[in-house]
Amino acid sequence: MPDLLSIEKALQRVLARTRPLPAEIVPTAAAAGRVLAEDVAARVDLPPFPSSAMDGYALRAEDTPGRLPVVFRIAAGIPSDRALTAGEAMAISTGGAVPDGADAVIQIELVAESDNTLHVPEAVEPGANIRPVGGDVRAGDVVLAKGTRIGAAQIGALAAAGIAEVSVARRPRVVVLSTGTELRAPGEPLGAGQIYESNGPMLAAAFEAAGATVERLGPVADDEAEHRRALERGLEADVLVSSGGVSVGPHDLVRRILGQLGVEEDFWGVAVRPGKPLAFGARGDTLVFGLPGNPVSSLVAVELFVRPALLALQGAAEPGPAYESATLASPLRRSPARDQLARARSRSGDQGTSVDPLGGQESHMIARAAGADVLVHVPAGEGELPAGATVRVLRLA
Ligand code: AMP
Ligand code: MG
Repeated sequence: MPDLLSIEKALQRVLARTRPLPAEIVPTAAAAGRVLAEDVAARVDLPPFPSSAMDGYALRAEDTPGRLPVVFRIAAGIPSDRALTAGEAMAISTGGAVPDGADAVIQIELVAESDNTLHVPEAVEPGANIRPVGGDVRAGDVVLAKGTRIGAAQIGALAAAGIAEVSVARRPRVVVLSTGTELRAPGEPLGAGQIYESNGPMLAAAFEAAGATVERLGPVADDEAEHRRALERGLEADVLVSSGGVSVGPHDLVRRILGQLGVEEDFWGVAVRPGKPLAFGARGDTLVFGLPGNPVSSLVAVELFVRPALLALQGAAEPGPAYESATLASPLRRSPARDQLARARSRSGDQGTSVDPLGGQESHMIARAAGADVLVHVPAGEGELPAGATVRVLRLA
């Protein structure tokens, strides 16, 4: 294997090859997980009219304290048909339009009403309990910027601002190809020397969560013709992600056949543990990741490289990976030549987040890894990172 690239350099090389996909229009309600292709401006002021923050009475602050006739009952969606004049009150519900002439709302708990007369015992501040027009956002102002990934709160903001459809990057089309003669689908009986194929469904789930549409191929046997057929098909996608067959064994065929199919290899080998034999290249606009077969190696490569690439393809302003800071709860042995991503469980407390490395850190131990909610970055070096060390962690989705 040639000199290993650092994680940072490898990510730079991946992102340098990544061209944003074209945009398409989708209904706001169906835009969860998508990335905005342009700034979105509010259609209306939010709130669109001065609205009451409380159930109570609209009035003029200067008329308080005092006794005021209740001349109208305003509800949400049912505004007053006229302005409020001096010495009057109007009942109003939360979300009701504060009438012209009123400059305050007093909440129902602080007053008494009988025979359509309101008794206000205390003076009310001007502006009290009124949500001003455009206090959240102004019509024409940017509600959400290009490159924002849309989640529940963003869908709420877009809908509130009157946006029925948004322009988002097309979903990346990803082909996931599992390689390995030993692989069987879960549910089938296992023969001698066989294992269940886990990378295919795992990778597909990760990529769908990152906004991609995924087609799964294989598992294919470690056979040249089978590899060629499947890889050729995968190269029609925006991103081809294979698992297995990128190491140095005689049955590791992926890189050679990708080369024969015109894929230009950008790098092979990253100074990371697990996940060292990662291969990356491109043919035209198709990005190609050859992930190592060990399930935890694949998982780590997704977090470090593939998910950021998928988000960058969609034009995300922050494709990640997004490291957070945490405190190590127990020591971790360092690896002299490679950065490690150790599986750990996080706990948040008064002192911030602490992370507890799990037992079973080998790259085939996917069942152990499934107990983790973070990957802890352990920089290459001698000795160990002591308990109490500040570390960078990646949160697993
Ligand atoms: P390879 O990278 O092909 O040498 O595979 C390394 C290890 O990962 C071997 O133990 C394989 O059996 C295992 N492996 C490869 N592909 C998969 C897969 N899709 N699911 C589960 N394990 C796999
Ligand atoms: Mg293999």
